[in-house]
Amino acid sequence: MKPVNLLCRLQLLGLLFVFACSRPQQTTQNRDLNVLFITLDTTRADHLSCYETEKADRSRKGARTPHLDALAAGGVRFAKAIAQVPLTLPSHACIFTGNYPEVHGLRDMVGFVLDPKQVTLASMARSAGFRTAAFVGSKVLDHQFGLQQGFDTYDDQISSAHDVEGRLVLPERPAAVTTDRALNWLRQNSGERFFLWVHYYDPHDPYDPPEPYKSNYVGDLYSGEIAYVDGQVGRLLEFLDQSDLRQRTLVAVIGDHGEGLNDHLEQTHGVFIYDETLHVPLILAGPRVPPGRVIQTQVRSIDLLPTVAEFLSLSANAAVQGTSLWPLIEQGKQMTGKGSNYAYIETLYPKTFMNWSELRGMRTDRWKFILAPKPELYDLEHDPTETANVIDQHPAEADHFQKKIWEVIGPPQSDRKLAVAPLDAQTRQELASLGYASAGSGRELVLDMKGPDPKDRVRTLNALDRYKQLSKAKSFGQAARLLQDTLQTDPGNPMVRLYLGITQERQGAWRQAIETYRNAIDARITTDEVYSRLGKAYLRVNDLDNAIIAMETAASKNPTDRENLCNLGTAHLLQKRPTEAEKAFKAILLQDDRYAAAYNGLGLVAVQQGDIDTARPNFEKAIELDPKQVEPLLHLGLLYRDKGDRQQALHYFTEFLEKAPQDYSHLLPQVRQSIRELQRAN
Ligand SMILES: [Zn+2]
Repeated sequence: MKPVNLLCRLQLLGLLFVFACSRPQQTTQNRDLNVLFITLDTTRADHLSCYETEKADRSRKGARTPHLDALAAGGVRFAKAIAQVPLTLPSHACIFTGNYPEVHGLRDMVGFVLDPKQVTLASMARSAGFRTAAFVGSKVLDHQFGLQQGFDTYDDQISSAHDVEGRLVLPERPAAVTTDRALNWLRQNSGERFFLWVHYYDPHDPYDPPEPYKSNYVGDLYSGEIAYVDGQVGRLLEFLDQSDLRQRTLVAVIGDHGEGLNDHLEQTHGVFIYDETLHVPLILAGPRVPPGRVIQTQVRSIDLLPTVAEFLSLSANAAVQGTSLWPLIEQGKQMTGKGSNYAYIETLYPKTFMNWSELRGMRTDRWKFILAPKPELYDLEHDPTETANVIDQHPAEADHFQKKIWEVIGPPQSDRKLAVAPLDAQTRQELASLGYASAGSGRELVLDMKGPDPKDRVRTLNALDRYKQLSKAKSFGQAARLLQDTLQTDPGNPMVRLYLGITQERQGAWRQAIETYRNAIDARITTDEVYSRLGKAYLRVNDLDNAIIAMETAASKNPTDRENLCNLGTAHLLQKRPTEAEKAFKAILLQDDRYAAAYNGLGLVAVQQGDIDTARPNFEKAIELDPKQVEPLLHLGLLYRDKGDRQQALHYFTEFLEKAPQDYSHLLPQVRQSIRELQRAN
């Protein structure tokens, strides 16, 4: 035997020995363990009272968070936890796959789904026999994006009643409602081993906490939302205490990203990758977790999956990019996983929404490097608020971090064209059979770091913030002028053009909106949203031919846009083309069989085809799914009247009269007349 082999063997034995010693001794007790996983949307670490000592900027007050503080005091608090992306969907995908966005594939808010080959923490837990459930606070985390993988229950049933801005403001539900539903599930399922994820969206813009938080946090409603969520976390923990589950449940709390609050002239999040939008709270408490420990070492959101997997003795894929935090938690040891001291960060949002350059970066305990058209380097030890770019003084560090970025995403010359396809393969195939979503649909995104540097476009960001205020105050004329002005300096910006069109829609200026969307297409802004809104505007001025062309283009680019498909079906109905209309409504139901308006549409298709027996159950289904739907009431009234069933006809007409909103005022005299006639005939 050669000595060199012996040496290797000895080293290996040594490693095995260390491994055996550091291994948890509780595999047999793991049978009864549960996990309560809480994600706090848009929550800056420095706005929790337990993170007081980590405040880079002392002038920020933040929220009082007694429940999270107590949880941290009884467990481990990570002083420097870094989210990988300042956006809800990609960040949650990092948390639940343990991988960076390049690997998990859910790169941005629109146009991506989780790579189905990824194995989520929930899948791992379910395979190991856990009951799994998720209660999410916003449509942003709708099941269509793939994060429902592994959950027996994925509760994303959130009404879109408050969806006033169209798809740009997604419906959310208050933390108290999400908590009620999660507690309800716990009452029924906590007798078994469970993996429960609860997501609180409230701190996301707009900031509007309920009382007493609204009064207590006048002037800082963002913090008021965090305080409100803290109270809801308290309700979940109280249940664990009362049910004697606390000793058997690992509680993990993490923020998905922070909020700019204008620290770098960004009010919300998504465009920049400074710490205010990436430094998030991370607290672990429960069995095996030593109480009261604060860990200063930088950790990443991708480290949570291997950590929880190890806790539950689940076999994690060895290839995940995150590293288990247990050596750090239990022994204060530095992590030894490949690249574990480097947090890769990115945002494609400036590229996809603004047509600016995307941003990538690398963060360590000491440094933050941002790869941008004009790169930046910050010495966090001396400059925690990232105000002085020291790249000229430290070229070697900048070079090193740039290479580290290539290690994560591949060499700089590699092809970085991304096919943006907001669909999983199966849905795509099913939709293709209806004539939507041909293989080549979707669009291509070129990640070449080209385009304006986002930090040179803060004027646009400020204008968009001002626009939101004007829009909220219904000052549409002023809002439109502001956006037109912004287009002078940022003409390639799709979002500014889209908001201009939306503002004109809200003014009822449909012709102007049509012109805005046509101009956008001329400026090569050809997203599905531009086409769907163009189609809707044509529909409003009764130009059905152009409406259908635009909406079909939108549907081929993005067949997941159900509202567009619904409008398309309506346009076909108005053209008396029930077969075409039917395809559009069926394409919706393929993706969401609880979409009430699509059943109403199918009912009308059946009426046009003279098939009354099919029409009726479709209208009934629409009402059953969404009692706020009024059109099917009217249609059922008409069906029963024509059939001679006066009682039923009266019932539905009366209900329609009671519920119909202002938009239907032109129909009310006719409905009243019908009711009078039916009553006379009685
Ligand atoms: Zn978020």
